[in-house]
Amino acid sequence: MNKKSDVTILGGGLAGLSLALQLRQSSPAASITVLEKRAHPVPEAAHKVGESTVEVAAHYFGNVLGLKDHIQQQQLPKLGLRFFFPAGDNSRIQDRLELGGKRYAPVPSYQLDRGRFENHLADECLSNGIDFCHQTKIEKVEITKSGDHCVKFSQNQLPGQINSKWIVDASGRRAFLKRQLGLSKTSPHVCNAAWFRFSKQIKIDDWCNDARWSAGHDGKTARWYSTNHLMGRGYWVWMIPLSSGSTSMGIVAAEEFHSISDFNSMGKAVDWLERFEPQCADAVKSHLDHVQDFRAIKNYSVESKQVFSKQRWGITGEAGFFHDPFYSPGSDFIAFSNSFLTDLIRRDLNGKGFRIRAIAYDKIYKKFFYGTSTAYLDQYQIFGNPTVMPVKILWDYLVYWSITGFIFMQGQMCHQRMYLRNMTKLSRLGKMNHFMQDFFRQWHRATEGIPASGCIDISQIPLIREMNQRLLDDMNHGQFANRFGDNLLQLETLGNEIVANSGIDVQVPFQQSAKPSVRQNAFETIFASVNGTNDPVTEERDAALI
Ligand SMILES: Cc1cc2nc3c(=O)[nH]c(=O)nc-3n(C[C@H](O)[C@H](O)[C@H](O)COP(=O)(O)OP(=O)(O)OC[C@H]3O[C@@H](n4cnc5c(N)ncnc54)[C@H](O)[C@@H]3O)c2cc1C
Repeated sequence: MNKKSDVTILGGGLAGLSLALQLRQSSPAASITVLEKRAHPVPEAAHKVGESTVEVAAHYFGNVLGLKDHIQQQQLPKLGLRFFFPAGDNSRIQDRLELGGKRYAPVPSYQLDRGRFENHLADECLSNGIDFCHQTKIEKVEITKSGDHCVKFSQNQLPGQINSKWIVDASGRRAFLKRQLGLSKTSPHVCNAAWFRFSKQIKIDDWCNDARWSAGHDGKTARWYSTNHLMGRGYWVWMIPLSSGSTSMGIVAAEEFHSISDFNSMGKAVDWLERFEPQCADAVKSHLDHVQDFRAIKNYSVESKQVFSKQRWGITGEAGFFHDPFYSPGSDFIAFSNSFLTDLIRRDLNGKGFRIRAIAYDKIYKKFFYGTSTAYLDQYQIFGNPTVMPVKILWDYLVYWSITGFIFMQGQMCHQRMYLRNMTKLSRLGKMNHFMQDFFRQWHRATEGIPASGCIDISQIPLIREMNQRLLDDMNHGQFANRFGDNLLQLETLGNEIVANSGIDVQVPFQQSAKPSVRQNAFETIFASVNGTNDPVTEERDAALI
């Protein structure tokens, strides 16, 4: 069987199928083929990880690809990210400092059942004239300098070949092109994960029956709609609800603190949870007859020397880069690389120049990746610190909403001139974020072991709500540039306030701004919470002690 195509996509998972749909929108006449080895439809629930989305991915799937109806009707809304920090032996959830919202954020995000979602993506591909070939195993890829690439595959035991102008590797960890072209890079971020799904809803809301703790979390604002993170030194545990009625759970830990050999089977994972997260262990043990799968992965962070080439090939999704699932950024980076690739391929198919852009986009994508990595690299040591982590998490959100999230949601990702105009601002933002991530480690060393309790309702923090809301603003180029400048000043001001409130004696290398559009004392309530002065439960307990 011999085929020809303008674009051949290797692998029909999340990255490959969504790229095919995006290409179809931008190049309606292009012939697009996706080769996927698995049989479709794939099973719901126990399929893949990558279930929790944040703003960029939700916007990409919902608005850019136009899948909002499916997402709103067939998937679950997400009540943001939610974190519980350690308290004592972690046997009482109500004693743990909680960071999360009681209201939904202005920009929606969702929990995706990956099996259900990939089945829908595949159906959309087929109904949009994309040649989606399932049960088709890629055997060999030949890349040529001229762009007449060839892929050899087998389908129903029969060999086949497809020649195409563009090849995009979306084969996930199989990473055809990265391996073949010698582009693999070892990541310095050494972390592991194990995950399992239950054919049951496991609700964190059931872990405490104190009415004060449950207040404000009724119906759709119940805590289980969030991606819940149970935090500890060097690790976190996730709980994600799926629309198929299942619950996804995972243990993620830096090897330096928790060896993967301590939780790489269901039995060991239960033992590990009993030690570090006893309430979660109880929930797991009482649902063991509902376990649907178990998987573990060592060193999940992957990097690549290059992802886009002027020789008409590209890499998207986990076939290229993946750093860390902590803030659920995997699908965001799929949105970024797919958008860059769509622009390059559209230009080429329309006879426009794409080669210089391929080089530029490759650099920008890597800059975004490495910029984002600083939020995770060497930071697992802080994860159990209830003084530093709430502030760091909100800082990381604001950086995301000020740079990559802002650029993508404002439709500026592929505007080369925007990068040229804002080069100085981007570099200042990058340096500032590096400084702050270093500072968080320093602050952690000074505060490790100090307990905190209570609840920080992030939906009540005006700056957090405003910055999230502003992602949706309709802006022209001038307004975009002004807002970008304001974002920078806001972060610099906040950085100064965080350092000043920490009591750590360090010189901050950037200035506070007095511009009226920049909020002052934006984290006052958080400092009050982590210092225990803003929390009725703590105050009551302290009063009892006196
Ligand atoms: C522990 C962990 C938790 C995560 N949690 C999140 C999260 O909450 N949110 C988030 O956004 N991201 C998360 N991610 C990242 C997310 O899982 C990935 O971004 C996403 O799954 C990558 O999609 P992909 O399409 O690149 O790869 P895949 O979904 O793996 O798709 C690759 C496809 O290629 C096919 N393939 C491979 N070899 C061949 C072959 N020889 N022939 C034909 N086809 C082939 C495979 O069958 C597969 O379908 C997480 C990652 C990890 C490790």
